[in-house]
Amino acid sequence: MRNLRNASDPPEQDCAIRQIDYRKPMTPNPSGFPTVGGLHHVTAIAGDPNRSVAFYTRLLGLRLVKRTVNFDDPTAYHLYFGTETGAPGTLLTFFYWRKDRTDFQGHGGVGGVAALTLSIPRGARPHWQERLAAAGVATRAGERFGDPLLSFSDPDQIPVELVESADDRRPWNGTDVPESQAITGLHSASLMVSKPDATEAMLGAGLGLTRVASEPGRTRWSAGPARPGNFVDVCVAGADAPDAAVGIGTVHHIALRAANGEARERLRSRLLSRGHAVSPLRDRQYFQSIYFREPGDALAEIATDGPGFAVDECPTRLGTSLRVPPSLERQREHIVAALPPLTLDP
Ligand code: ZN
Repeated sequence: MRNLRNASDPPEQDCAIRQIDYRKPMTPNPSGFPTVGGLHHVTAIAGDPNRSVAFYTRLLGLRLVKRTVNFDDPTAYHLYFGTETGAPGTLLTFFYWRKDRTDFQGHGGVGGVAALTLSIPRGARPHWQERLAAAGVATRAGERFGDPLLSFSDPDQIPVELVESADDRRPWNGTDVPESQAITGLHSASLMVSKPDATEAMLGAGLGLTRVASEPGRTRWSAGPARPGNFVDVCVAGADAPDAAVGIGTVHHIALRAANGEARERLRSRLLSRGHAVSPLRDRQYFQSIYFREPGDALAEIATDGPGFAVDECPTRLGTSLRVPPSLERQREHIVAALPPLTLDP
């Protein structure tokens, strides 16, 4: 394994977990082709990293699990939030674009992803209504597939949703949010499309998801067992809906899980054989990824479960210092100088 420890890291014996074992068996598939294993992460675009860290850690109770830069644009932060280890399926990640240009503001619509949708325990909605109201965040209660839902916007106007569901994943307990109420990870991703057929064909025949529910305007697909973290919803946008415009305040892409590199490559071959354009492999340090556009135009990624966030940082100190990949290490000084300081200690 790569050794990227800093001199300031605690002694090795304090870091017993060097590589987190995220492995889960892939869903058996009778037709024999590999399937994705649920959501890996969802990435959005924000403006002010300090405000974002405060919102997602102090208010929503997630852990900042990695502080790094956008590998494709190292002048900007890339921050990852999740539960304790940053396990796949719990991750929200953010690129930070500078706010001094108004055309950086985006908006949702056709070809976009509607919201950051997170899972909370059954009965937790009243807690979040109170907690968010106390912080001055306006919320709207609703229901989806019979599950209570709470909608609001983050400080960059990114739509966020909390959905009550039966979910046995353990939340991060390092905040003042009671464990019985806390966010357990991603719930679902809602793709906004004008013509659902092609998107659904890719999800089903292409990636091996199964259709598990539908209600007017929305069809739910699941990667493996029908449970939070595995859902992709295909939503039919209204005839007057604008096309999505990528920018601050929008979801940039969703990532689905591949158990390992072999599964990722088999999925890549399958997408290519079905006529989809897929990027070459990209090493994202904490996972390895391929990218493609689903037919409705949303950007999607398939990311491996490993090696995970402990590859360059002690698990007890995840997110506490800036990490850059080996390919950018020589530019570290310039990178740090260009980044706004993160003043909050999450
Ligand atoms: Zn990604």
